[in-house]
Amino acid sequence: MQAIVKAERAPGLVVKSVPKPSPGAGEVLIAVRHAGVCGTDLHIADWDPWAQSRMHPPVVIGHEFAGEIVAVGDGVAELKTGRLVTAEGHIVCGHCLQCRTGNSHICRNTRIIGVDRDGAFAEYIVMPATNVLCLDGIPTEVGAIMDPMGNAFHTVLSGDIPGSNVFVVGCGPIGCFAVGIARAAGAAKVIASDINPKRLALARTMGAQVTIDATKQDVVRQVLEATGNEGADVVCEMSGVPSALHQAFASVRMGGRVQLLGLPKGEVPVDIANEIIFKGITIYGVIGRKMYETWHQMRRFLSSGMFDPRPVMTHQFPLAKIDEALVAIRSGDAGKVILEIA
Ligand SMILES: [Zn+2]
Ligand SMILES: [Zn+2]
Repeated sequence: MQAIVKAERAPGLVVKSVPKPSPGAGEVLIAVRHAGVCGTDLHIADWDPWAQSRMHPPVVIGHEFAGEIVAVGDGVAELKTGRLVTAEGHIVCGHCLQCRTGNSHICRNTRIIGVDRDGAFAEYIVMPATNVLCLDGIPTEVGAIMDPMGNAFHTVLSGDIPGSNVFVVGCGPIGCFAVGIARAAGAAKVIASDINPKRLALARTMGAQVTIDATKQDVVRQVLEATGNEGADVVCEMSGVPSALHQAFASVRMGGRVQLLGLPKGEVPVDIANEIIFKGITIYGVIGRKMYETWHQMRRFLSSGMFDPRPVMTHQFPLAKIDEALVAIRSGDAGKVILEIA
C-alpha cells in the first residue's frame, strides 16, 4: 500500500510502498478515506527537537483519519466490515492510575498513532477496536478531523459555557472550531483574537461576534469593552504564544477560568500572584480528548447540525501531495488541511 513515511532520522517525508497491515486479536483494519494534516506532522517532517526525542523511524505518520472497516480480528464482536468510522489516536494502557480512574486522556503510557506506531497517512491502518468510533452518518472528511475538533470540544466544554462570555485566543483551525463550539453550546458572546486577518474572518464565519486584531488593537481593552468591563468568564488559549498567554490571564474575569490548549515553544514567565492567585482564577490544561465523553458529545453536536466545521476545512490534497499540504499549513493562512486517500 502507499503511505507517507518518516523514513529516517532527518528532515523530510517520503511517499512509498509499504506492507499492508493485518488486524490481530481485538483489532480492526480500516481503509482510510480522508486524513487530517496538522502541526504535529509539520514537526515530524521538519524533524524538530520534539520529533528527534520521541520518534523511532521508519514510521507511517498521520493521526487524524476516517475510513471504512474492511476486516476485523478475532474477538471483535461489536464492529463489522463496511462501517464508516474514525478513531481516537491515543492508545492507552488501561491499567495505570489515570486509566483506572476515568482519565485515560492523561494515561501515562499513551502511544500515539503516526508518532509512536504506524499511523493513518496510508491506504490502510490497523486500530484497537476499543479506539474506534462509528460515524453514524457524519461524512468521512469531517470524521477525519474529529481528533483536532475533539481538542476544541474538550477545551471549550470543560468550562461553564451557557450564557457566558467566551474569549478564544488564537484562530488557527482549532481556535476557529472552538468559536463555533462555544456558540453552539450557548455562549452569550464569543470574542476571538489573532494576528492574521484571514483567520479572523474565518472566526467571524464560525460565529465570533467580536474579533480583535492583536497587531493593531489593545486585546485586553477590547475584551473588557466587550464584557461590560468584567473580563471574559471563560478564556480558551489556543495559540501558545507568550504575549497571548498574558493577554489570556489579563482578559479573564476575577474568578474566571482559563483553558490552555496552545503549546508554547519553551518556558513562559508568569506572575503567579497577580495573574492567577489574586484573581482567583482556575486554570485547566487540555490534553487530547476525554475518552470517550468528548467523542460522544462531539458526535451529537455534529450529527444534530448544531456545529458545522466545514467552513474551516479550506484545503484538500491527494496523498502524494503531502509536501503541498505542508506548504499550505506553513503559510498560516490555511484552515484545516485534508488528505483525500480513497
Ligand atoms: Zn493533529
Ligand atoms: Zn494508562
